[in-house]
Amino acid sequence: MSKAQNYINGKWVDGSLGTMDMINPSHDTVIGQIARSDDRDVDAAVAAARAAFEGVWGQTPAFERGRLLQKAAQKLFEHAEELARIESADAGKPLSQARADAQLVARYFEFYAGAADKLHGETIPYQNGFTVYTTREPYGVTGHIIPWNYPLQMTGRTLAPALAAGNATVLKPAEDACLAIVRLFELLDEVGFPAGSINLVTGRGDEAGAALSKNRDIDHLAFTGSPEVGTLVMETMAKNLRPVVLELGGKSPQIVFEDADLDAALPVIVKAIIQNAGQTCSAGSRLLVHESLHDRVVAGLVERFNAIKVGPAETDPDIGPIISKKQLSRVTSLVDMAVKNGAEILAQAARPDGEGYFYPPTLLGAIDNNHDVAQKEVFGPVLVVIPFSDEAEALHLANNVPYGLVAAVWTRDNGRAHRMVKGIRAGQVFVNGYGAGGGVELPFGGMKQSGFGREKGFEALHHVTTTKTVIINHG
Ligand code: NAD
Repeated sequence: MSKAQNYINGKWVDGSLGTMDMINPSHDTVIGQIARSDDRDVDAAVAAARAAFEGVWGQTPAFERGRLLQKAAQKLFEHAEELARIESADAGKPLSQARADAQLVARYFEFYAGAADKLHGETIPYQNGFTVYTTREPYGVTGHIIPWNYPLQMTGRTLAPALAAGNATVLKPAEDACLAIVRLFELLDEVGFPAGSINLVTGRGDEAGAALSKNRDIDHLAFTGSPEVGTLVMETMAKNLRPVVLELGGKSPQIVFEDADLDAALPVIVKAIIQNAGQTCSAGSRLLVHESLHDRVVAGLVERFNAIKVGPAETDPDIGPIISKKQLSRVTSLVDMAVKNGAEILAQAARPDGEGYFYPPTLLGAIDNNHDVAQKEVFGPVLVVIPFSDEAEALHLANNVPYGLVAAVWTRDNGRAHRMVKGIRAGQVFVNGYGAGGGVELPFGGMKQSGFGREKGFEALHHVTTTKTVIINHG
């Protein structure tokens, strides 16, 4: 079992508030403990990061940072199966999804290992007698607050670029699932990152999380989570005049035109809503379908939804449980309310027996786009189907939500695909495909209330660094 401690300044230390239990959502059983921390632990971690940034880590050349990240990647690939099994039990992920996530966390370290010494500035033509160039400078101490839905992936996605760029980091994972992250830090410790360059502080959001955003000595904060907490974090950071990257929720549309290849589209549409039991920011949770295809698409989906296997994560079903009792009751009440307001349950898979927090994949019809269930992030395996009559209406429906994270357009008409791509307000748009969360190499982030700043890809490095312009007057 992993340590129920924080990792601060290269050492494992107890949390100031003791420990908290971690629950396996497939069985409602306690499977471990983590440290419960408050501002004392966070302040110690930030101070360690500051010392590392001003000391050894700050002096480590880019290619050496890259080598360390590469060693970390190798270590994580070697331990991928172990990490996947912990993540599966802790977050309720079907084993094969957890295995994919364990590969991806290693891929993030691998990708940014290669990028560490390729991040450079520009020379800028200026007046005669001057040489001007820019450098990309690390912010210094970066804070990272992440959610429970993809603990391993989120850690790689946020930490690896920050470290590649030379920042010293403090990570606060979510209290609902982070056992695999604790194990990951044990592995990073073996890799030999200088003391203070990577710090882990676990615990509750209103204790450890709030303490991190309030700390006046962090230079930058990357927050991934709900819009509600994102707002709180941004307000706190505003008081310290420090920048944030916010990766928030989504209500992403899949838009199926009358000329779409349904054999290709339907399995992808199903996967995009059941992946991680729908608890994915980029879940394809709204299906906009041309009215001429509506009945055919619904019939195809009903058949597929009814065949989905729901069960405990270790049996590697199609979908596992919802993360917690609290989230399960939120999903249940949103669907119940929708039905009360006239929505029709078109399909619902079978719920397994047992104590797990299972919610069966549910297809909802007879929904108006203004309805709560079509506007709010359900964060469960619930797909709403809304028909449209032409391209203009499809675009209007696609954009008429507060979020703008991901979208997909299914059509064989290239002109239409380009017009839709141009009109859709979302950070990622797929044509004839959909990848909820995938693509280490692909810049990712939101428009509108889905947040701002970008993670993933080379572009993430521009969001964990700031520009210094050097103007030399040499006459
Ligand atoms: P959450 O906002 O409740 O918690 C996220 C993190 O914030 C956790 O670590 C939590 O402990 C911490 N936190 C809670 N209260 C805090 C406070 N007052 N101050 C500082 N930190 C605090 O979100 P969640 O329920 O863990 O995750 C689900 C949400 O995350 C969904 O809305 C989902 O769409 C979003 N998400 C977005 C992305 C993306 O890339 N856009 C990715 C994954 C999840």
